[in-house]
Amino acid sequence: MTKKKTQKKTKEKTKAKSQKKNKSKTLKFNYAPALESTKVEILEKYGNFIGGEFVAPKTGKYFDTVNPADGKKLASLALSGSADVDLAVKAARKAFKSEWSQLTGSERGKFLFRIARIIQERSRELAVLETLDGGKPIKESRDVDIPLVAQHFFYNAGWADKLDYLVPGKKVKPIGVCGQIIPWNFPMLMLAWKIAPALAAGNTVVLKPAEQTSLTALKFAEICQEAGLPKGVVNIITGAGETGAALVDHKDVNKIAFTGSTDIGKLIARNAGKTNKKLTMELGGKSANIVFADAAIDQAVEGIVAGIFFNQGHVCCAGSRLLIEESVKDLVIKKLKARMKQIRVGAPLDKNTDLGAINSKEQLKKIRDLVKQGQKEGGEFWQVETVLPTRGNFFAPCLFMDQSGSSTIAREEVFGPVLSVSTFRTPDEAIAKANDTNYGLAAGIWSEKGSKVHMVASKLKAGIIWANTYNKFDATSPFGGFKESGYGREGGRHGVLPYVEVE
Ligand code: ADP
Repeated sequence: MTKKKTQKKTKEKTKAKSQKKNKSKTLKFNYAPALESTKVEILEKYGNFIGGEFVAPKTGKYFDTVNPADGKKLASLALSGSADVDLAVKAARKAFKSEWSQLTGSERGKFLFRIARIIQERSRELAVLETLDGGKPIKESRDVDIPLVAQHFFYNAGWADKLDYLVPGKKVKPIGVCGQIIPWNFPMLMLAWKIAPALAAGNTVVLKPAEQTSLTALKFAEICQEAGLPKGVVNIITGAGETGAALVDHKDVNKIAFTGSTDIGKLIARNAGKTNKKLTMELGGKSANIVFADAAIDQAVEGIVAGIFFNQGHVCCAGSRLLIEESVKDLVIKKLKARMKQIRVGAPLDKNTDLGAINSKEQLKKIRDLVKQGQKEGGEFWQVETVLPTRGNFFAPCLFMDQSGSSTIAREEVFGPVLSVSTFRTPDEAIAKANDTNYGLAAGIWSEKGSKVHMVASKLKAGIIWANTYNKFDATSPFGGFKESGYGREGGRHGVLPYVEVE
Protein backbone atom coordinates (compact mmCIF):
# COMPACT_ATOMS: atom_id res chain seq x y z
CA MET A 1 0.00 0.00 0.00
CA THR A 2 1.32 3.45 -0.89
CA LYS A 3 1.81 6.14 1.72
CA LYS A 4 -1.06 8.18 0.19
CA LYS A 5 -3.50 5.25 0.36
CA THR A 6 -2.62 4.55 4.01
CA GLN A 7 -3.22 8.20 4.89
CA LYS A 8 -6.64 8.10 3.16
CA LYS A 9 -7.65 4.96 5.05
CA THR A 10 -6.60 6.42 8.40
CA LYS A 11 -8.59 9.57 7.61
CA GLU A 12 -11.72 7.53 6.81
CA LYS A 13 -11.33 5.53 10.00
CA THR A 14 -11.04 8.72 12.11
CA LYS A 15 -14.12 10.18 10.36
CA ALA A 16 -16.18 7.06 11.04
CA LYS A 17 -15.02 7.08 14.67
CA SER A 18 -15.95 10.69 15.19
CA GLN A 19 -19.36 10.13 13.52
CA LYS A 20 -19.97 7.25 15.90
CA LYS A 21 -18.93 9.44 18.83
CA ASN A 22 -21.22 12.27 17.72
CA LYS A 23 -24.11 9.84 17.33
CA SER A 24 -23.76 8.63 20.87
CA LYS A 25 -23.49 12.27 22.03
CA THR A 26 -26.80 13.10 20.31
CA LEU A 27 -28.46 10.10 21.93
CA LYS A 28 -27.37 11.31 25.35
CA PHE A 29 -29.07 14.71 24.84
CA ASN A 30 -31.61 15.55 27.53
CA TYR A 31 -34.70 17.65 26.90
CA ALA A 32 -35.66 20.38 29.36
CA PRO A 33 -38.59 19.32 31.52
CA ALA A 34 -42.01 20.29 30.19
CA LEU A 35 -43.27 23.64 31.36
CA GLU A 36 -46.36 22.17 32.97
CA SER A 37 -44.18 19.97 35.19
CA THR A 38 -42.78 23.11 36.88
CA LYS A 39 -43.41 22.91 40.60
CA VAL A 40 -45.15 25.95 41.99
CA GLU A 41 -45.36 26.45 45.70
CA ILE A 42 -48.85 27.48 46.72
CA LEU A 43 -49.40 28.01 50.44
CA GLU A 44 -52.60 26.81 52.08
CA LYS A 45 -53.36 30.26 53.38
CA TYR A 46 -52.21 33.77 52.46
CA GLY A 47 -52.40 36.96 54.49
CA ASN A 48 -52.05 40.46 53.04
CA PHE A 49 -48.65 41.80 52.02
CA ILE A 50 -48.27 44.95 54.08
CA GLY A 51 -45.06 46.78 55.03
CA GLY A 52 -42.93 44.08 53.39
CA GLU A 53 -44.48 41.17 55.28
CA PHE A 54 -47.42 38.80 55.04
CA VAL A 55 -49.89 39.62 57.81
CA ALA A 56 -53.17 37.97 58.80
CA PRO A 57 -56.26 40.06 58.03
CA LYS A 58 -57.76 42.03 60.91
CA THR A 59 -61.18 40.69 59.86
CA GLY A 60 -59.95 37.15 60.62
CA LYS A 61 -61.84 36.09 57.47
CA TYR A 62 -60.61 34.19 54.44
CA PHE A 63 -62.09 33.10 51.10
CA ASP A 64 -61.18 30.38 48.61
CA THR A 65 -59.50 30.80 45.26
CA VAL A 66 -60.16 27.91 42.86
CA ASN A 67 -58.77 26.46 39.68
CA PRO A 68 -61.46 27.20 37.08
CA ALA A 69 -60.40 24.19 35.01
CA ASP A 70 -61.45 21.68 37.67
CA GLY A 71 -63.16 23.66 40.42
CA LYS A 72 -60.59 22.54 43.01
CA LYS A 73 -59.53 24.91 45.76
CA LEU A 74 -56.00 26.27 45.40
CA ALA A 75 -55.66 28.38 48.56
CA SER A 76 -57.38 30.52 51.19
CA LEU A 77 -56.95 34.26 50.81
CA ALA A 78 -57.44 37.12 53.24
CA LEU A 79 -60.84 38.78 53.01
CA SER A 80 -59.70 42.27 53.88
CA GLY A 81 -61.81 44.97 55.49
CA SER A 82 -61.33 48.71 55.88
CA ALA A 83 -58.93 48.23 58.85
CA ASP A 84 -56.65 46.14 56.62
CA VAL A 85 -56.86 48.73 53.86
CA ASP A 86 -55.97 51.40 56.40
CA LEU A 87 -52.94 49.44 57.56
CA ALA A 88 -51.73 49.05 53.98
CA VAL A 89 -52.26 52.74 53.17
CA LYS A 90 -50.33 53.73 56.33
CA ALA A 91 -47.43 51.45 55.32
CA ALA A 92 -47.45 52.94 51.83
CA ARG A 93 -47.52 56.51 53.18
CA LYS A 94 -44.64 55.82 55.54
CA ALA A 95 -42.54 54.26 52.78
CA PHE A 96 -43.37 57.15 50.45
CA LYS A 97 -42.33 59.84 52.91
CA SER A 98 -39.34 58.24 54.54
CA GLU A 99 -37.72 56.36 51.73
CA TRP A 100 -39.06 55.86 48.22
CA SER A 101 -39.63 59.47 47.20
CA GLN A 102 -36.19 60.35 48.67
CA LEU A 103 -34.26 57.91 46.50
CA THR A 104 -32.67 59.10 43.28
CA GLY A 105 -34.32 57.96 40.07
CA SER A 106 -31.43 55.68 39.24
CA GLU A 107 -31.68 53.99 42.66
CA ARG A 108 -35.39 53.36 42.10
CA GLY A 109 -34.58 52.14 38.61
CA LYS A 110 -32.18 49.55 40.04
CA PHE A 111 -34.98 48.00 42.10
CA LEU A 112 -37.27 47.86 39.07
CA PHE A 113 -34.57 46.28 36.91
CA ARG A 114 -33.98 43.74 39.68
CA ILE A 115 -37.70 42.90 39.84
CA ALA A 116 -37.79 42.55 36.04
CA ARG A 117 -34.88 40.12 36.08
CA ILE A 118 -36.40 38.00 38.86
CA ILE A 119 -39.66 37.84 36.87
CA GLN A 120 -37.69 36.51 33.91
CA GLU A 121 -35.86 34.00 36.09
CA ARG A 122 -39.12 32.78 37.64
CA SER A 123 -41.18 33.06 34.45
CA ARG A 124 -42.02 29.34 34.20
CA GLU A 125 -43.34 29.27 37.72
CA LEU A 126 -45.34 32.48 37.19
CA ALA A 127 -46.80 31.21 33.90
CA VAL A 128 -47.97 27.96 35.47
CA LEU A 129 -49.48 29.76 38.45
CA GLU A 130 -51.28 32.25 36.19
CA THR A 131 -52.79 29.40 34.23
CA LEU A 132 -53.75 27.39 37.32
CA ASP A 133 -55.51 30.29 38.97
CA GLY A 134 -57.02 32.01 35.93
CA GLY A 135 -57.69 29.24 33.39
CA LYS A 136 -55.90 30.77 30.42
CA PRO A 137 -53.89 28.44 28.14
CA ILE A 138 -50.31 27.92 29.27
CA LYS A 139 -48.99 28.94 25.87
CA GLU A 140 -50.53 32.39 26.39
CA SER A 141 -49.25 32.81 29.98
CA ARG A 142 -45.83 31.60 28.85
CA ASP A 143 -45.51 33.50 25.57
CA VAL A 144 -47.60 36.61 26.11
CA ASP A 145 -48.48 37.50 29.71
CA ILE A 146 -45.27 36.87 31.62
CA PRO A 147 -42.82 38.14 28.97
CA LEU A 148 -44.89 41.34 28.77
CA VAL A 149 -44.87 41.64 32.57
CA ALA A 150 -41.06 41.58 32.55
CA GLN A 151 -41.01 44.01 29.62
CA HIS A 152 -43.17 46.53 31.50
CA PHE A 153 -40.78 46.47 34.47
CA PHE A 154 -37.71 46.80 32.23
CA TYR A 155 -39.31 49.60 30.24
CA ASN A 156 -40.48 51.62 33.25
CA ALA A 157 -37.19 51.05 35.07
CA GLY A 158 -35.71 53.05 32.22
CA TRP A 159 -37.99 56.00 33.00
CA ALA A 160 -37.03 56.20 36.68
CA ASP A 161 -33.91 58.31 36.05
CA LYS A 162 -35.28 60.19 33.04
CA LEU A 163 -38.33 61.85 34.58
CA ASP A 164 -36.86 65.28 33.82
CA TYR A 165 -37.54 64.50 30.16
CA LEU A 166 -41.09 63.18 30.66
CA VAL A 167 -42.74 66.57 30.08
CA PRO A 168 -40.46 68.80 28.01
CA GLY A 169 -39.27 71.84 29.95
CA LYS A 170 -41.08 70.86 33.15
CA LYS A 171 -40.15 69.17 36.40
CA VAL A 172 -42.38 66.39 37.66
CA LYS A 173 -42.89 64.89 41.10
CA PRO A 174 -44.68 61.77 42.37
CA ILE A 175 -48.34 61.90 43.42
CA GLY A 176 -48.02 59.91 46.66
CA VAL A 177 -49.95 56.77 47.59
CA CYS A 178 -51.72 55.10 44.66
CA GLY A 179 -54.60 52.66 45.09
CA GLN A 180 -54.76 50.18 42.23
CA ILE A 181 -57.64 47.81 41.51
CA ILE A 182 -57.31 45.19 38.80
CA PRO A 183 -59.46 42.50 37.12
CA TRP A 184 -59.04 38.77 36.52
CA ASN A 185 -58.40 38.58 32.79
CA PHE A 186 -54.67 39.46 32.83
CA PRO A 187 -53.85 39.27 36.55
CA MET A 188 -50.12 39.75 36.51
CA LEU A 189 -49.97 41.89 33.39
CA MET A 190 -52.47 44.36 34.86
CA LEU A 191 -50.35 44.42 38.02
CA ALA A 192 -47.28 45.28 35.93
CA TRP A 193 -49.13 47.98 33.96
CA LYS A 194 -50.03 49.61 37.24
CA ILE A 195 -47.13 49.00 39.62
CA ALA A 196 -44.18 49.53 37.25
CA PRO A 197 -44.91 53.15 36.17
CA ALA A 198 -46.16 54.12 39.65
CA LEU A 199 -42.90 53.02 41.27
CA ALA A 200 -40.72 54.45 38.51
CA ALA A 201 -42.29 57.86 39.14
CA GLY A 202 -41.60 57.62 42.88
CA ASN A 203 -45.05 56.67 44.21
CA THR A 204 -45.89 53.84 46.59
CA VAL A 205 -48.86 51.55 46.01
CA VAL A 206 -51.65 49.51 47.57
CA LEU A 207 -52.88 47.03 44.99
CA LYS A 208 -56.01 44.92 45.17
CA PRO A 209 -56.01 42.02 42.72
CA ALA A 210 -59.28 40.46 41.56
CA GLU A 211 -60.72 38.00 44.06
CA GLN A 212 -60.68 35.23 41.41
CA THR A 213 -56.99 35.61 40.55
CA SER A 214 -54.81 36.89 43.38
CA LEU A 215 -52.12 34.21 43.48
CA THR A 216 -49.63 35.73 41.04
CA ALA A 217 -49.94 39.09 42.82
CA LEU A 218 -49.02 37.32 46.06
CA LYS A 219 -46.10 35.64 44.27
CA PHE A 220 -45.12 39.10 43.13
CA ALA A 221 -45.05 40.14 46.80
CA GLU A 222 -42.43 37.40 47.35
CA ILE A 223 -40.50 38.80 44.38
CA CYS A 224 -40.52 42.27 46.01
CA GLN A 225 -39.01 40.66 49.13
CA GLU A 226 -36.43 38.82 47.03
CA ALA A 227 -35.49 42.07 45.27
CA GLY A 228 -35.00 43.80 48.63
CA LEU A 229 -37.59 46.44 47.73
CA PRO A 230 -37.94 48.83 50.71
CA LYS A 231 -40.80 47.76 52.97
CA GLY A 232 -44.17 49.35 52.29
CA VAL A 233 -43.41 50.50 48.72
CA VAL A 234 -45.69 47.73 47.38
CA ASN A 235 -48.62 46.51 49.47
CA ILE A 236 -51.06 43.87 48.28
CA ILE A 237 -54.44 43.36 49.89
CA THR A 238 -56.87 40.67 48.81
CA GLY A 239 -60.64 40.67 48.91
CA ALA A 240 -63.65 41.39 46.71
CA GLY A 241 -65.63 44.52 45.81
CA GLU A 242 -65.98 45.78 49.38
CA THR A 243 -62.22 45.74 49.86
CA GLY A 244 -61.82 47.69 46.62
CA ALA A 245 -64.48 50.16 47.75
CA ALA A 246 -62.65 50.70 51.06
CA LEU A 247 -59.49 51.54 49.12
CA VAL A 248 -61.40 54.01 46.92
CA ASP A 249 -62.95 55.64 50.00
CA HIS A 250 -59.70 55.94 51.97
CA LYS A 251 -58.86 59.58 52.64
CA ASP A 252 -55.10 59.20 52.43
CA VAL A 253 -54.98 57.68 48.95
CA ASN A 254 -53.97 60.22 46.29
CA LYS A 255 -54.90 58.33 43.17
CA ILE A 256 -57.01 55.40 42.04
CA ALA A 257 -56.11 53.43 38.94
CA PHE A 258 -58.81 50.96 37.99
CA THR A 259 -59.22 48.34 35.29
CA GLY A 260 -62.49 46.43 35.20
CA SER A 261 -66.11 46.64 34.14
CA THR A 262 -67.70 49.89 33.03
CA ASP A 263 -70.41 49.62 35.72
CA ILE A 264 -67.91 49.37 38.59
CA GLY A 265 -65.74 52.02 36.93
CA LYS A 266 -68.64 54.48 36.97
CA LEU A 267 -69.33 53.67 40.62
CA ILE A 268 -65.67 54.20 41.53
CA ALA A 269 -65.54 57.49 39.63
CA ARG A 270 -68.53 58.74 41.63
CA ASN A 271 -67.04 57.67 44.97
CA ALA A 272 -63.48 58.77 44.27
CA GLY A 273 -64.78 62.19 43.23
CA LYS A 274 -65.95 62.76 46.82
CA THR A 275 -62.39 62.60 48.13
CA ASN A 276 -60.63 64.56 45.40
CA LYS A 277 -58.48 61.72 44.09
CA LYS A 278 -56.85 61.52 40.70
CA LEU A 279 -58.33 58.79 38.54
CA THR A 280 -57.47 56.61 35.58
CA MET A 281 -59.91 54.06 34.23
CA GLU A 282 -59.53 51.25 31.75
CA LEU A 283 -62.98 49.81 31.23
CA GLY A 284 -64.92 47.67 28.81
CA GLY A 285 -65.02 47.44 25.05
CA LYS A 286 -66.97 46.16 22.06
CA SER A 287 -64.31 46.53 19.45
CA ALA A 288 -64.83 46.22 15.71
CA ASN A 289 -62.60 44.12 13.50
CA ILE A 290 -63.17 45.40 9.94
CA VAL A 291 -62.31 43.14 7.00
CA PHE A 292 -62.25 44.78 3.56
CA ALA A 293 -62.58 42.76 0.37
CA ASP A 294 -58.99 43.59 -0.63
CA ALA A 295 -57.55 42.10 2.56
CA ALA A 296 -55.31 39.04 2.61
CA ILE A 297 -58.21 36.82 3.65
CA ASP A 298 -56.26 33.95 5.23
CA GLN A 299 -54.30 36.35 7.42
CA ALA A 300 -57.50 38.22 8.26
CA VAL A 301 -59.10 34.97 9.40
CA GLU A 302 -56.13 34.35 11.71
CA GLY A 303 -56.53 37.91 13.00
CA ILE A 304 -60.25 37.41 13.63
CA VAL A 305 -59.47 34.27 15.64
CA ALA A 306 -56.68 36.03 17.56
CA GLY A 307 -58.97 38.99 18.10
CA ILE A 308 -61.88 37.20 19.74
CA PHE A 309 -60.71 33.80 20.93
CA PHE A 310 -57.45 34.88 22.61
CA ASN A 311 -57.75 34.30 26.39
CA GLN A 312 -61.28 32.83 25.94
CA GLY A 313 -62.45 36.27 24.80
CA HIS A 314 -61.66 37.60 28.29
CA VAL A 315 -60.00 40.64 26.76
CA CYS A 316 -61.40 44.15 27.10
CA CYS A 317 -60.10 45.04 23.64
CA ALA A 318 -61.32 41.76 22.03
CA GLY A 319 -62.40 42.14 18.40
CA SER A 320 -65.87 40.97 19.33
CA ARG A 321 -67.71 42.67 16.44
CA LEU A 322 -66.64 41.40 13.05
CA LEU A 323 -67.58 43.66 10.14
CA ILE A 324 -67.01 42.06 6.72
CA GLU A 325 -67.31 43.73 3.33
CA GLU A 326 -70.37 42.09 1.80
CA SER A 327 -68.67 40.80 -1.37
CA VAL A 328 -66.30 38.56 0.63
CA LYS A 329 -68.66 37.59 3.43
CA ASP A 330 -69.28 34.01 2.27
CA LEU A 331 -65.59 33.36 1.68
CA VAL A 332 -64.52 34.81 5.04
CA ILE A 333 -67.21 32.93 6.95
CA LYS A 334 -66.38 29.65 5.23
CA LYS A 335 -62.70 29.99 6.10
CA LEU A 336 -63.46 31.27 9.58
CA LYS A 337 -65.71 28.31 10.43
CA ALA A 338 -63.07 25.89 9.13
CA ARG A 339 -60.44 27.63 11.29
CA MET A 340 -62.69 27.72 14.36
CA LYS A 341 -63.19 23.95 14.10
CA GLN A 342 -59.45 23.58 14.66
CA ILE A 343 -59.46 25.50 17.94
CA ARG A 344 -58.58 23.10 20.75
CA VAL A 345 -60.65 23.74 23.84
CA GLY A 346 -59.57 22.05 27.06
CA ALA A 347 -57.05 21.69 29.86
CA PRO A 348 -55.28 25.07 30.22
CA LEU A 349 -52.01 23.44 31.34
CA ASP A 350 -51.76 21.40 28.13
CA LYS A 351 -49.43 23.30 25.81
CA ASN A 352 -51.58 22.35 22.79
CA THR A 353 -54.68 24.03 24.18
CA ASP A 354 -55.88 27.14 22.36
CA LEU A 355 -58.89 28.00 24.48
CA GLY A 356 -58.75 27.29 28.19
CA ALA A 357 -61.26 27.58 31.02
CA ILE A 358 -63.74 30.39 31.51
CA ASN A 359 -62.49 32.23 34.57
CA SER A 360 -65.39 31.61 36.95
CA LYS A 361 -68.80 29.95 37.24
CA GLU A 362 -70.36 33.42 37.37
CA GLN A 363 -68.67 34.44 34.12
CA LEU A 364 -69.72 31.19 32.44
CA LYS A 365 -73.31 31.83 33.48
CA LYS A 366 -73.12 35.39 32.15
CA ILE A 367 -71.85 34.13 28.77
CA ARG A 368 -74.55 31.43 28.59
CA ASP A 369 -77.29 33.92 29.48
CA LEU A 370 -76.16 36.42 26.86
CA VAL A 371 -75.91 33.70 24.21
CA LYS A 372 -79.45 32.52 25.07
CA GLN A 373 -80.67 36.09 24.77
CA GLY A 374 -78.89 36.40 21.42
CA GLN A 375 -80.54 33.19 20.16
CA LYS A 376 -83.95 34.52 21.19
CA GLU A 377 -83.34 37.71 19.24
CA GLY A 378 -82.65 35.75 16.05
CA GLY A 379 -79.85 35.72 13.48
CA GLU A 380 -77.95 32.54 12.62
CA PHE A 381 -76.08 31.04 15.56
CA TRP A 382 -73.19 28.67 14.93
CA GLN A 383 -71.03 26.95 17.53
CA VAL A 384 -68.08 24.61 17.14
CA GLU A 385 -69.04 21.04 17.98
CA THR A 386 -66.43 19.75 20.37
CA VAL A 387 -66.25 17.58 23.45
CA LEU A 388 -65.75 19.84 26.46
CA PRO A 389 -64.14 18.62 29.69
CA THR A 390 -66.80 17.42 32.12
CA ARG A 391 -65.34 19.33 35.08
CA GLY A 392 -64.56 23.01 35.22
CA ASN A 393 -65.89 26.00 33.29
CA PHE A 394 -65.69 25.60 29.52
CA PHE A 395 -67.52 27.13 26.57
CA ALA A 396 -67.08 26.30 22.88
CA PRO A 397 -66.32 29.16 20.45
CA CYS A 398 -69.33 30.46 18.57
CA LEU A 399 -70.60 33.19 16.30
CA PHE A 400 -73.80 35.06 15.60
CA MET A 401 -74.36 35.98 11.94
CA ASP A 402 -76.11 39.07 10.56
CA GLN A 403 -76.31 40.94 13.81
CA SER A 404 -78.14 44.25 13.69
CA GLY A 405 -76.48 47.09 15.58
CA SER A 406 -79.21 46.99 18.22
CA SER A 407 -78.94 43.29 19.09
CA THR A 408 -77.64 42.30 22.51
CA ILE A 409 -74.63 40.37 21.20
CA ALA A 410 -73.58 43.30 19.02
CA ARG A 411 -73.91 45.85 21.82
CA GLU A 412 -72.99 44.19 25.11
CA GLU A 413 -69.54 43.14 26.18
CA VAL A 414 -69.85 39.34 26.51
CA PHE A 415 -66.28 38.75 27.70
CA GLY A 416 -66.29 35.26 26.27
CA PRO A 417 -65.58 33.40 22.99
CA VAL A 418 -68.65 34.80 21.22
CA LEU A 419 -68.33 36.70 17.95
CA SER A 420 -70.96 39.01 16.48
CA VAL A 421 -70.83 39.24 12.67
CA SER A 422 -72.35 41.81 10.30
CA THR A 423 -71.55 43.23 6.87
CA PHE A 424 -70.97 46.58 5.17
CA ARG A 425 -70.77 47.85 1.60
CA THR A 426 -68.65 51.02 1.76
CA PRO A 427 -65.82 52.30 4.00
CA ASP A 428 -68.17 54.98 5.35
CA GLU A 429 -70.69 52.35 6.38
CA ALA A 430 -67.93 50.33 8.06
CA ILE A 431 -66.78 53.42 9.99
CA ALA A 432 -70.33 54.31 11.04
CA LYS A 433 -71.01 50.76 12.23
CA ALA A 434 -67.68 50.48 14.05
CA ASN A 435 -68.31 53.76 15.89
CA ASP A 436 -71.92 52.85 16.73
CA THR A 437 -71.16 51.72 20.27
CA ASN A 438 -70.90 53.24 23.73
CA TYR A 439 -67.34 51.96 23.91
CA GLY A 440 -64.17 53.05 22.13
CA LEU A 441 -61.28 50.87 23.17
CA ALA A 442 -59.85 49.17 20.09
CA ALA A 443 -60.39 48.34 16.43
CA GLY A 444 -58.79 46.27 13.70
CA ILE A 445 -58.59 47.08 9.98
CA TRP A 446 -57.76 44.48 7.35
CA SER A 447 -56.87 45.81 3.90
CA GLU A 448 -53.91 45.63 1.53
CA LYS A 449 -54.36 49.32 0.71
CA GLY A 450 -52.38 51.55 3.06
CA SER A 451 -54.26 54.75 2.18
CA LYS A 452 -57.57 53.09 3.01
CA VAL A 453 -56.20 51.83 6.34
CA HIS A 454 -55.06 55.36 7.26
CA MET A 455 -58.30 56.99 6.17
CA VAL A 456 -60.45 54.53 8.14
CA ALA A 457 -58.15 54.64 11.20
CA SER A 458 -58.35 58.43 11.33
CA LYS A 459 -62.14 58.25 11.56
CA LEU A 460 -62.50 55.48 14.13
CA LYS A 461 -63.17 56.50 17.73
CA ALA A 462 -60.94 53.94 19.37
CA GLY A 463 -57.86 54.24 21.57
CA ILE A 464 -55.94 51.43 19.90
CA ILE A 465 -56.15 50.61 16.20
CA TRP A 466 -54.41 47.62 14.70
CA ALA A 467 -53.83 47.35 10.96
CA ASN A 468 -53.58 43.84 9.48
CA THR A 469 -53.02 42.38 12.93
CA TYR A 470 -54.91 42.21 16.23
CA ASN A 471 -54.26 41.97 19.97
CA LYS A 472 -50.61 42.91 19.81
CA PHE A 473 -49.22 44.61 22.91
CA ASP A 474 -46.00 46.33 23.76
CA ALA A 475 -44.75 48.14 26.87
CA THR A 476 -43.68 51.16 24.81
CA SER A 477 -47.10 51.67 23.31
CA PRO A 478 -49.99 53.46 25.09
CA PHE A 479 -53.22 51.56 25.71
CA GLY A 480 -56.58 53.09 26.68
CA GLY A 481 -59.97 54.10 25.41
CA PHE A 482 -62.54 56.70 24.43
CA LYS A 483 -66.13 57.10 25.63
CA GLU A 484 -67.25 54.44 28.13
CA SER A 485 -63.99 52.52 27.67
CA GLY A 486 -62.36 54.89 30.13
CA TYR A 487 -59.73 57.59 30.32
CA GLY A 488 -56.02 57.76 30.90
CA ARG A 489 -53.42 55.67 29.10
CA GLU A 490 -51.20 52.81 30.27
CA GLY A 491 -47.92 51.86 28.65
CA GLY A 492 -45.30 54.04 26.99
CA ARG A 493 -44.53 57.59 28.09
CA HIS A 494 -48.29 58.21 28.30
CA GLY A 495 -48.51 55.50 30.97
CA VAL A 496 -46.07 57.31 33.30
CA LEU A 497 -47.83 60.68 33.00
CA PRO A 498 -50.84 59.77 35.19
CA TYR A 499 -48.41 58.97 38.02
CA VAL A 500 -46.80 62.41 38.25
CA GLU A 501 -47.68 65.97 39.21
CA VAL A 502 -46.29 68.46 36.72
CA GLU A 503 -44.67 71.37 38.58
P1 ADP B 1 -65.24 42.08 36.07
O1 ADP B 1 -66.64 42.28 35.62
O2 ADP B 1 -64.23 42.07 35.01
O3 ADP B 1 -65.09 41.03 37.14
P2 ADP B 1 -65.26 44.11 38.04
O4 ADP B 1 -65.38 45.52 37.61
O5 ADP B 1 -66.41 43.48 38.71
O6 ADP B 1 -64.80 43.40 36.74
O7 ADP B 1 -63.99 43.89 38.98
C1 ADP B 1 -62.74 44.46 38.72
C2 ADP B 1 -62.07 44.75 40.03
O8 ADP B 1 -62.84 45.70 40.75
C3 ADP B 1 -61.95 43.55 40.96
O9 ADP B 1 -60.70 43.61 41.62
C4 ADP B 1 -63.09 43.74 41.91
O10 ADP B 1 -62.89 43.13 43.17
C5 ADP B 1 -63.10 45.24 42.07
N1 ADP B 1 -64.37 45.81 42.50
C6 ADP B 1 -65.62 45.29 42.37
N2 ADP B 1 -66.54 46.12 42.90
C7 ADP B 1 -65.87 47.19 43.39
C8 ADP B 1 -66.26 48.41 44.05
N3 ADP B 1 -67.53 48.69 44.31
N4 ADP B 1 -65.30 49.28 44.40
C9 ADP B 1 -64.00 49.03 44.12
N5 ADP B 1 -63.58 47.92 43.51
C10 ADP B 1 -64.48 47.00 43.14
